Amino acid sequence: MSGTVSSSIDFDKRGKESGYLQAGDSTNNSGWAIFNLPIHSINSGPGPKVLIIGGNHGDEYEGQFAIANLIRELKVDDIAGELIAIPSVSFPASFASTRLWADDTNFNRIFPGDENGRIPQKIAHYLATELIPRVDVVIDIHSGGRGHHFLESATATWSDDKKYRSDLIKNLNGWNTRYSLIFPSHPGTNESSLLPGYVASLGKSLFTGEFGGSGVTSATSNRITRAALVSALKSISLLKPDWHSDSYDHKVAVENREFIDMRSSDTYHWAEEEGLYQNKKRLGDRVEKGELIGAIHFPDSADRKPHLVLASRSGTVGVIRGYPRVKRGDCLTLIGDSYSDLSQLPE
Ligand SMILES: [Zn+2]
Repeated sequence: MSGTVSSSIDFDKRGKESGYLQAGDSTNNSGWAIFNLPIHSINSGPGPKVLIIGGNHGDEYEGQFAIANLIRELKVDDIAGELIAIPSVSFPASFASTRLWADDTNFNRIFPGDENGRIPQKIAHYLATELIPRVDVVIDIHSGGRGHHFLESATATWSDDKKYRSDLIKNLNGWNTRYSLIFPSHPGTNESSLLPGYVASLGKSLFTGEFGGSGVTSATSNRITRAALVSALKSISLLKPDWHSDSYDHKVAVENREFIDMRSSDTYHWAEEEGLYQNKKRLGDRVEKGELIGAIHFPDSADRKPHLVLASRSGTVGVIRGYPRVKRGDCLTLIGDSYSDLSQLPE
């Protein structure tokens, strides 16, 4: 229960409704303000209960657009069950084109939230105590934001719990994307402070994906995200199998699926200098250990040569740098082993 956030819509009511999650706010300009977060509910009765979240990080726009477009289009009869959608959960950050909220809150590090905290903490607490417990499935759509650019991919954080892992793999396949990326737990982070980590800690079914990045969307990334979301909703039988849209073509040809294992510590390449990073490899490129993958430039120095970044392992490039400004410790590129079949992946 949340004592500080309420919903203007009744999720139990059959039908389609749009409204707001409302949290008490108090700002320099307004003492009795209400923070209004747009939320949508489509309830057709019995069936799976699904929560879709976009814009967990503000500058990751692919999911925000895909969710908003799909919700506008869906009618109650198109689904079996209940769909709750928040297209842009960190919309003040989305407007600012930033990953974090203006108070530096990373919405994906504050779960289970705090009903007496700042606005994002209040919202996270409402999700953690009201919406996530209510549903069977949570879909959380990301991309690289300004800092990174991902292959448009389904993703999964590897779980030691084999039963939960098999559900993650089922959902990984449910997205029906060309690429899937397998990640370890986040280094130096309490995994359940992340929205998907919190969902996993409750044993709820989870879909996550990274659908591009660099703080921009393209016709291709938008199309893949939209098709993947529709495929995911069909895979859990929320969306009826024969549902189609007159506005979109969902037939993204997926041949040669690739599963890229990002769990090895030498997957991650971090900046060792402060400067401007130039990518020398494309997403999806095969590289050999020791090969040049990028360079850090020092434009404020007349005679300093770029610092060359070499691949610390062979594999496939799954993530490259977006925004080029880097300082020591920023992540530049991820390279992992690629498999055509997930069953080949080592334990
Ligand atoms: Zn993100």
